[in-house]
Order: sequence, then structure tokens, then C-alpha cells
Amino acid sequence: MTAIPAPSSQLPPQVEIFIVGAGFGGLGAAIKLQEAGERDFLCIDRGGEVGGTWRDNSYPGAACDVPSQLYSFSFAPNPNWSHSFSRQPEIQDYLRRVGRQAEVLDRFRFNVTFESAAWDAETDRWRIETSAGPTTARLLVAAGGALSDPKMPEIDGIEQFTGAVFHSSQWDHELGLTGKRVAVIGTGASAIQIVPELAKQAARLDVYQRTAPWVMPRRDVAYRPWQKWLLRTFPPVQRLARASVYLAREATVPMFVALPGLGKLAARSGIHNIDKAISDPVLRAKVLPHFALGCKRVLLSNDWYPALTRSNVQLITEPIRRLTETGIVTGDGTERQVDALIVATGFLPTELPIAQQIKGTHGQTLSDAWSAHGIQAYKGSTVAGFPNLFMVVGPNTGLGHSSMVYMIESQLAYLVDAWRTMRRHDLATVEVLPEIQQAWNADLQRRMRRTVWHTGGCRSWYLDAHGRNVTLWPRTTYTFRRLTKRFDLAAYRSTALADRPAASRRELDA
Ligand SMILES: Cc1cc2nc3c(=O)[nH]c(=O)nc-3n(C[C@H](O)[C@H](O)[C@H](O)COP(=O)(O)OP(=O)(O)OC[C@H]3O[C@@H](n4cnc5c(N)ncnc54)[C@H](O)[C@@H]3O)c2cc1C
Repeated sequence: MTAIPAPSSQLPPQVEIFIVGAGFGGLGAAIKLQEAGERDFLCIDRGGEVGGTWRDNSYPGAACDVPSQLYSFSFAPNPNWSHSFSRQPEIQDYLRRVGRQAEVLDRFRFNVTFESAAWDAETDRWRIETSAGPTTARLLVAAGGALSDPKMPEIDGIEQFTGAVFHSSQWDHELGLTGKRVAVIGTGASAIQIVPELAKQAARLDVYQRTAPWVMPRRDVAYRPWQKWLLRTFPPVQRLARASVYLAREATVPMFVALPGLGKLAARSGIHNIDKAISDPVLRAKVLPHFALGCKRVLLSNDWYPALTRSNVQLITEPIRRLTETGIVTGDGTERQVDALIVATGFLPTELPIAQQIKGTHGQTLSDAWSAHGIQAYKGSTVAGFPNLFMVVGPNTGLGHSSMVYMIESQLAYLVDAWRTMRRHDLATVEVLPEIQQAWNADLQRRMRRTVWHTGGCRSWYLDAHGRNVTLWPRTTYTFRRLTKRFDLAAYRSTALADRPAASRRELDA
């Protein structure tokens, strides 16, 4: 086992802004705050470097499924992407480079885990506990990621299985899988990238499927040297390329939120993708989805279906009953021997660990605040009862059709404008009004009712235990951008520094 390196150093006793997470969200927050003139911030991450999703998901075949021209920061265009859908190492390199070039990394601490934060009304600050000790901050930015905590399935007998078991986001690169008998559980976004790669190495690959996903062709191209030259030499060309991807993606919104019938048209391309690769009627029946396109994440791949036709690959749709010491037993009683089990069952976006860790004005946790109506926030960012807390990729900011980096940049504009507003008006605190938050979420849930995520006949990870969609944004991303462009102070209860107890003023002056 590799030893976990010691935290890079102790934390300062106080900072103005404390950021949890160094993925696109936390790194972007640091860069945008610095651009706005704020240097007194600290960003921590439990991992060893920036990257978040792209540091952790290093499985074979990992790549983005939104073209890189759009799946990258607008303020840090990269003319050198090798493909339209970049592979994980390239995206991770990009994030490292962006952090280095922005000269923010001196205020990052890696291998430091956020443990808790409690609002201190005496000082108007967050009291924060981390694995590298305590600190306090005026603003807490929660950018811990919606897809950063792996979801492990509960399978009887998993503790007695003697082979290797790991989640797709915690790939064991020490373990060679060449010539081994491998099982992959899941047929979601990660599995469809892993399976075609593993199929080339494993002696036998068993793929356990609960629900057949919609898999559309991936129109990936390798950029030629002259194309990179063009993008490098004429930045407006790259901006045009980005805009065209953006518009093409945005044009699909009605299919998800207003006219799910449109999905039937698009589904033909998915069926064609199956037809091209699979002639065996039994396998075709297994891979044919039984819900409307878009209800679950639409996946992109040219090699998923061909991989399933290989002689060393078997798609198993019988439910898993239990594990033995050396194999997997399915509902029909069959036991298949395996050396390694890869769990590609996704993440926990509706059960965020920070919900237990952050305590607001009356000592209530986010979990307590969300117990009655589920996870919710105002503009995916702020929560009533939790002053000066800003979430990045908070509730209902996820997308089924476009780049999360676009949503993240919208949220960062909101955060930075909030901070500027607090400075301009000498405010100690801002806390969204409960009735504003309630109205925002009532509107979201009303819009959700006619979306394909609710009417499409599937049960996806977008929904919480009560069947509410608390993860996705049900409008255009442009609308979200417009609504988060400026911090709307009128939606907040605020307190002026001058009216606050001396302790609060002293800490700010310090
Ligand atoms: C395999 C995969 C592929 C994806 N592909 C796409 C795509 O193509 N297009 C798209 O738009 N989106 C994609 N996504 C979604 C992706 O998560 C977002 O696009 C984006 O990377 C989220 O950035 P983030 O900063 O919010 O979160 P993350 O990248 O998850 O970063 C969060 C960071 O917080 C840290 N953290 C969490 N908890 C703690 C704690 N308690 N203490 C300290 N640190 C903590 C984590 O270590 C992590 O580094 C994909 C997700 C996955 C998992």
C-alpha cells in the first residue's frame, strides 16, 4: 500500500475565504477570486494535486464526453487538445497547467481533508476543522464535487471475496489485468469507457448490467497539426469552435425539458449504433434500452457495442445474488470465477458528505435543513440558515447535455460578485431569505414535472430517495448564466459590519 504523504503544511489560523476541493470548481474559484483582487484565500484538497474528477478517474479509456473546446475554462483556452474528446491524462495536465500559469497554487494545501465547519455567530466566521488542524474564514466555498464520493454496491459476501475489488474512480494501477478473469459491475458512463479497453487485455470479461443505457456514436476527431496551428494563431477561430459546440449542445435542451417526444427521433441514432455492431438477436435484446432517451445520462461510444461482441466478453443481465471467495453468483444460481471485480456504479450526488459536516446558525447541519424537502439551495449556491456559505456545483446545477465547466463559471461569477458586494457595502454576512429559496425550488420542481427525467420511465441517479430531481438544471445553461451574472443582494438578509459585535469587526481588521 502506498503511504499517504503528510499534509504540505499547517494551515494559517484565519483566512478571508476557505475553499474545499481543487477540481474545476475550487481551482476556478481561486483564479477568479485572485483576478478580483482577493489574495487571502486558501484551498484544500484531500488528494495530492489539483484535478478532482480528472485526478481520480484514471481508469483505462477515461475521457470527457463533452468536446474539450467547451469542456475547459473559457478564460484558459487550449489550442493543443489532441482530440475533440480529450483523454483523462490530457485534461489533468491542462488543470495542472492552468493552476501553475495563474500563480495560485501557493495558496493550495494538498492531502488535507475537510472535516467540519460550524458557523460562529459571535465572530461571523466559519470555524473549520481539517486533518491539518483548525482555521477560521469569513466565506466558506464548498467545491467538494457532486461526483467525488464513490458509491459502492451492497453485495452479500463481498467481505469474503479474495480477489481484488475497487471502484472505477480508485483504479489500482499496480494490478495488471492482462490475462485475468475480470468482472465489471455497471453499464454507466465509466463502464462504457472501461470495458472496450479491458476487453483487449483480460482473458475473460464479465459485464454485469442492470439497465441497458442509450449509447450514441462519439464523433471524435484527432486534431491535425494545421488545425492546432490555426486555433493557436487565430484565437477567434477557437472561440467560434467553442461557440458552435455550445450552441449545438444548447439546442438539445427542449428534448430533455419540454418536448421529450423529440428524443424518439434522436433514439434512431442509438438504435443504428446497435445495428451496426451487433447481429446476435439475444445480445441485441439485452442492450436495447427500455426507457426514453435522456431519462438517464446519454452515453457516447463507438466501441462499447463492438466490445460486447468479442468472444472473451459476456454481458450478464441476471442480478447478482452474492459473492463467494472466488466468484460471483447470479440469481439463476450460476457462479462465475473472477480474479478482479471492478465496481463502476457511480457516485453519491444526492447524499453529499458535506451535508453532515457543515453546521449553520443554530447548530443544524445541512442534512437537518434538507431533511424535510430534500437537497436544495438558491441558484445552486446558497442555503438559508448557512450565512456566507457558497456551494459550487450545488443542488440542481448538473447537466445532462452540456459542459459542467460552463455552469461552474456561472457560479463563480455569482460568488465573486457576492464577495465584491460584501466588500463594497461593508457587510459581515449574507444569508439567503428562506422564502426566496423556497420559491426558487418550487419553480424548479414545477419545471421538472414535464422533463424526460421524470416522464421517461427510468430511475436514475439524478433523483433522490423521494423521486425528486435535485441534481439537474431544467433550463438552458444560458438562462443559468443570466441568473447568476450578478449577486442579488435583495434576496438576502445581510448584516453590516458596523452593527456586528466587536469580535466580528476585530477579526476582519486583524
Ligand atoms: C468519470 C467522469 C467523467 C466526467 N465527464 C464529464 C464531461 O465529459 N463533461 C462534464 O461536463 N462533466 C463531466 N463529469 C462531471 C465532473 O465531475 C465535472 O465536470 C467537474 O469535473 C466537477 O468539478 P468539481 O470541482 O465540482 O468537482 P471535482 O472535480 O469532483 O473536485 C472536487 C474535489 O474536492 C475534493 N474533496 C471532496 N471532499 C473533500 C474533503 N472532505 N476534504 C478535502 N477535499 C475534498 C476531492 O478530492 C476533489 O478533488 C465527469 C465526471 C466523472 C466522474
